[in-house]
Amino acid sequence: MITMKDISKTYSNGVTALSGINVNIDQGEFVYIVGPSGAGKSSFIRLIYREVKPTSGQIVVANKDLSKLKERKVPYLRRDIGVVFQDFKLLPKLTIYENIAFAMEVIEQSPRIIRKRVMEVLELVDLKNKARSLPHELSGGEQQRVSIARAIVNHPKIVIADEPTGNLDPDTSWEIMRVFEEINSRGTTLIMATHSKEIVNTIKHRVIAIESGRIVRDEYRGEYGYEG
Ligand code: ADP
Ligand code: ADP
Repeated sequence: MITMKDISKTYSNGVTALSGINVNIDQGEFVYIVGPSGAGKSSFIRLIYREVKPTSGQIVVANKDLSKLKERKVPYLRRDIGVVFQDFKLLPKLTIYENIAFAMEVIEQSPRIIRKRVMEVLELVDLKNKARSLPHELSGGEQQRVSIARAIVNHPKIVIADEPTGNLDPDTSWEIMRVFEEINSRGTTLIMATHSKEIVNTIKHRVIAIESGRIVRDEYRGEYGYEG
């Protein structure tokens, strides 16, 4: 589903965020990306949905060679990938329903299909009763569940989450993980950057550790490996 060959990323300010990255992630895997702040985790994640381009190397995502992908084809890549952020990034003036529906309107789905699917994903994250609320009326955990619903509404093959529980308390974080587990159990590839030792050591999955821009560890059912 995701292959990186000899990937490096040097930003325009001269900082090398990643180098010598070789990795293969299969369909249906659940992968944690761990490592100290500034190690290159976000850069790794942003490469996958083409938010940043590699300086060198090859990256293939959902059978698309991103080094060759034309700018106008990026929206097609984004259909295959749902992204969840630490700070939710919901549109503040739209209702919960509208926030999710918007992701389907941009790919021109019919109103009938949108209505059905939005209610379906709201059901999955247990927020049907909040459809008419505005984001600020919801708790942090609820807002994150909305952003997950939005990420999966178009049936992506891959869900990417950058520190999704970073702003949430432990109980709420477990709820979010339960939703991710459910999504992954239905076959969606899940990639999650996290600083949560508790989560990584409790809900076991593959762990890729990045330090100073390099992969230093890649273990099936791995440990967090740092002090919490
Ligand atoms: P992490 O997510 O592990 O904290 P990042 O990928 O955000 O790591 O950052 C890796 C390195 O790249 C850091 O030194 C960071 O300052 C730098 N960096 C990240 N994004 C940019 C950018 N847009 N421009 C310049 N440097 C950046
Ligand atoms: P429930 O209402 O089913 O108990 P929780 O929100 O408490 O759900 O937990 C969500 C998931 O995370 C469950 O699968 C639960 O087993 C797991 N979980 C919750 N808290 C902990 C914990 N402290 N340690 C390990 N696993 C936990």
